[in-house]
Amino acid sequence: MDTVWKEYKLRKSVFWMSVFIFFVWMWFCSSFVEMLFLGFIIGVAIVGAAAVFYARWKCPRCHKPFVLKGAYGNVLTTKCLHCGLPSYASSAEISNLAYNLKA
Ligand SMILES: [Zn+2]
Repeated sequence: MDTVWKEYKLRKSVFWMSVFIFFVWMWFCSSFVEMLFLGFIIGVAIVGAAAVFYARWKCPRCHKPFVLKGAYGNVLTTKCLHCGLPSYASSAEISNLAYNLKA
């Protein structure tokens, strides 16, 4: 795997781990009714921070956010939302500049 995709994989893993931790955390907080609201706020803040970390990763080909396009984000995408570069593409595909930026 190209080193450029290691950062992508790390950020993606951090995001999905935070989602998993959110559910475990909410299950834990559900045992303490007085903690539920505060626990929810903390959980959403953690997932939000991880989502920002993930969304700020830039596509190695077009250098635009890979999973974010304007206000639209797709954490399940396997292609760059701007140039369509598939995740884990080879360095030859990354350096191929014959692509169209979608409007
Ligand atoms: Zn791209």
